[in-house]
Amino acid sequence: MRRSFSFSRLFIFAAVIAVLPSIAQNSTPSDNLPYKNRDLAVELRVQDLLGRMTLGEKVAMLSGADWMSTVPNARLGIPSIKMADGPLGIRFWGGPSSETNAMLAKDKVTTTAFPAGIAMGATWDAELVQSDGQAIGQEVKALGRDMILGPTVNINRTPLWGRNFEGFGEDPYLTSRLAVAYIKGVQSEGVIATVKHFAANNQEFERHRVNAIVDERALQEIYFPAFKAAVQEAGVWSVMSAYNKLNGVYCAENSALLKGVLQDQWGFKGFVVSDWGSTYSTVNTVNAGMDVEMPGGQPMKDWLKKPKTIEAGNGGGWLVPEKVLAAVSAGKISEATINDNVGRILRAIFVSGQFDNPHTPSGEIDTPAQRALARKASGESIVLLKNTGDLLPIDPSKIHSLAVIGPSAAVARTGGGGSSLVSPKYSVSPLKGIQDRASANIKITYAVGVTMEGEDPSQETPDMRERLKREAVNAAAKADAAIIVIGRSAKLESEDFDIKSLDLPAGQDDLIEAVAKVNKKTIVVLNAGGPVIMTRWIAQIPALLDMWYGGQEAGNAIADVLFGDVNPSGKLPVSFVKKWEDSPAYGHYPGEKLQVEYAEGIYVGYRYFDKKNIEPLFPFGYGLSYTKFEYSDLKVSPASEPGKLADVSFQLRNSGGRAGAEVVELYIHDGHASVDRPVQELKGFQRISLAPGETATVHFTLDPRDTAFYSTAKKSWVTEPGQFDVLVGASSRDIRVKGSFNANSDQ
Ligand code: BGC
Repeated sequence: MRRSFSFSRLFIFAAVIAVLPSIAQNSTPSDNLPYKNRDLAVELRVQDLLGRMTLGEKVAMLSGADWMSTVPNARLGIPSIKMADGPLGIRFWGGPSSETNAMLAKDKVTTTAFPAGIAMGATWDAELVQSDGQAIGQEVKALGRDMILGPTVNINRTPLWGRNFEGFGEDPYLTSRLAVAYIKGVQSEGVIATVKHFAANNQEFERHRVNAIVDERALQEIYFPAFKAAVQEAGVWSVMSAYNKLNGVYCAENSALLKGVLQDQWGFKGFVVSDWGSTYSTVNTVNAGMDVEMPGGQPMKDWLKKPKTIEAGNGGGWLVPEKVLAAVSAGKISEATINDNVGRILRAIFVSGQFDNPHTPSGEIDTPAQRALARKASGESIVLLKNTGDLLPIDPSKIHSLAVIGPSAAVARTGGGGSSLVSPKYSVSPLKGIQDRASANIKITYAVGVTMEGEDPSQETPDMRERLKREAVNAAAKADAAIIVIGRSAKLESEDFDIKSLDLPAGQDDLIEAVAKVNKKTIVVLNAGGPVIMTRWIAQIPALLDMWYGGQEAGNAIADVLFGDVNPSGKLPVSFVKKWEDSPAYGHYPGEKLQVEYAEGIYVGYRYFDKKNIEPLFPFGYGLSYTKFEYSDLKVSPASEPGKLADVSFQLRNSGGRAGAEVVELYIHDGHASVDRPVQELKGFQRISLAPGETATVHFTLDPRDTAFYSTAKKSWVTEPGQFDVLVGASSRDIRVKGSFNANSDQ
């Protein structure tokens, strides 16, 4: 059993006193030293080990050894923490993604590419996300690494953020549940999970220089909850500080954030790692509780000299021993602070079991079980957005020929770009998946229709575009149905820069319009990390699926859904806007003069559309199925469990003709608050699988957190007595049953 961080101060004090004599006598044979005793409480081992380290040895641990590992200590047997990105699988750790992810990079590892975070968000399946985290933990260990740089839990503030695909969407509750699940999965394998990027890293544009100005309530209600849940519910062992400034101070030296919120408010006992090249000072950074600066060693020195690094505005090299020791000698950093910071690193090494059982490369990567999990996860993530006339699933008795078209049909686009992009051993494109699945009596023709913007300039001339489009239109005209796979690529949607427009890349709208004109059974499949503008063609096409970036098995998964082997059950973890101007952040993004003011406050995602009465194209939580679900008999009663607020139950019936899973969503409406509150907030969800005709009773228990808002006056979470409405339905805009209850006092 793994040890937990929970302990009482008194107990630590007493225990430290108890081990002191053995330190002082210094006569213990080295193998019997207290910190080596795996039966001793973690805190005692930490204190014992700290007591044996010289100041120089401690300070050496504050900056990395190289690109992705911490400094070991051979004398005392402290292992290096060997890291890897994260979060969608394991990426090679030998250098920046711009170098190591290149097709021709000489050093690489191939690992299972799981679906992107946004796809995992669309599953609304915490159990599945936990399995995903566990599988990733197993692969980390199998590679002899110790720590995964994930999950990413930054909220999708704007649909143009280049990294939207990495996070779990726009809602803090959904993101929190899935973050906790992912971390528990990873850490159950004795691998350190890293929740990132703390905090308010919601754009790539000028990410190294921008100052995010975010009010306290928005931080507490929107941007912090997933980090808090990661600390308090999942017991995460590491937090990564963000690149940007938050309210005027770089996150890596932001004492209010790292000490005030993380340590003091939430009780975090693990260590903070800087984002790669995000430090700008020695004294403030160490004193703020930023424990390990990354990268380190020679790779850091070489990288910091590169023109691209300088131009981007990265900082680093501030926690090297000479600088920290000079600050200690000058009395600007105390040894107690160094002890606290180093103690945090040591604690994670002990508590994760890595001190006693260091990971050595062993075990398997990309096993059949991991492949099956990747396929299941991708299948569950696919969202059916439109299905007029029940065109889907494809009925092989009616459809004998299919034209498969589009720049993302024959290419497996497994993830977005940047540090999270995994190199899998193999990947399945939608075309391959469809070919493998379609029965022999379905004839498949393929035409690219338009190449992905920026991938092959020779194909992007007006003449070539026309020619490719014509080929696709001809193929579609002759087929019983057309499937067009469109979207973005890892070069257009990536870490390091924001998406330049919500419009589809060049030529794709034209292609869809042209194909839809000649084939009334045109099915569009979106392969991207978030919404795209669909105005030109959404009314013309009968069927639309969103497959996100679904990892290495996504081609099989989309075929599973198209042919009805899997009934789609994903729901949108982000609202889809009709136009960019409708977005909450419009007008307050990407900021001016390196300041971005989050003027929309708590009104992010559906909270904004509800408040402003804006009709999104597809609302948060939306997704169709090949079957139908009926909701009835909502009952709200006083909670049977002490400390809880109310019990909710209702009947869910599969009234259609197929087995399927429904994600049911529970929102709370507070109509009496003394402060402005969102119209509704997600506070519960479940994924329920039902056979045709089957009915289930679904239960929720509400707790005080579900009714509370963050009071800036009281500096705490407050429930104001009065009536709260319970809204349960199939999406944020499809509430099927309602009830209410009274909460009596401040919680
Ligand atoms: C990213 C992090 C990543 C780190 C290491 C940074 O650029 O923001 O998410 O973990 O690089 O690759």
